[in-house]
Amino acid sequence: MRPRPGSTPGHRRAGARRTSPGLSRREGAALRELDRIRAPLFRELERLLRDPDYHRGEEPHACCTRAKNQMRISPLEAKAIARALLEVPELRAKLPAVLRRLKVELPRLEDNTRRQSFDCPLLEGTRCLVHDAAKPIGCTAWHPGRELTDAGWEAFARRDELNDRLHGSRWKLRVIPLWLKRALAAELRGEPRGSPEREARSRGTGPGPRGARLPCSAPSP
Ligand code: SF4
Repeated sequence: MRPRPGSTPGHRRAGARRTSPGLSRREGAALRELDRIRAPLFRELERLLRDPDYHRGEEPHACCTRAKNQMRISPLEAKAIARALLEVPELRAKLPAVLRRLKVELPRLEDNTRRQSFDCPLLEGTRCLVHDAAKPIGCTAWHPGRELTDAGWEAFARRDELNDRLHGSRWKLRVIPLWLKRALAAELRGEPRGSPEREARSRGTGPGPRGARLPCSAPSP
C-alpha cells in the first residue's frame, strides 16, 4: 500500500518489538534485524512524502487490491506480521477481521510460489494495518511510477540473506495470504494461544504435521 503523509517510522507502535512467547531467541533476533533492514526505507519514504506529486492523484490503497497487487513476502516477514497481529493490542483487536478476509482470499489462490492477484487481508479501508509494525519490505520499497532505489535493492538483499540464515536457502517467496496462512495457521484453526491443541501441536505431539510452528521453525520449500 502506498503510504500516506504522517504515517512513517516514528509512529511504530510500542509492543511491536516485544519478543513473543514461543519465539526462539534466534527468531527474535532475526525479527529485530528485519526492523533494522526496513528502517532506511522509512527514512526514504519521509523524503518522498515531501513531494506533493508523490501520490499523483491515485488512491493510496489501490496497489493493495486485486487489480494491482501481487506482492510476495518471505517467511520471516510473515512471522513479523503474525507477531504484530498477536502482540500489539490495537492489532490484536483487528485479528478476527484479518482472519475473515484471509479466509475469503485463500480459496481464490493456488498454493504455490507464483505471483497471483489478491486483495490484501491486511488492508482495512484505506489503511495498511501493519504499516507501523511489520510492513513487508516490498510494500515499503515500492513507490508508484519510480524505479527501485539502491536502498530498496539493499533491503531485499539483506532480507533474503536473513531468511537464508534462518531457514537455509530453500525458502520461497509467496503472495501475502499464502504465507499468512502458514504464520497464522493456529488462529485460522480457531486454536487460541495456550490451548491444549495448540501446545500439543507446537510440541509435535498433536494432530497434524510436525513443524506446525511455521514459518520460522520449518519453512515450506
Ligand atoms: S501489507 Fe498489504 S495492506 Fe499493507 S502495504 Fe502491503 S499489500 Fe498493502
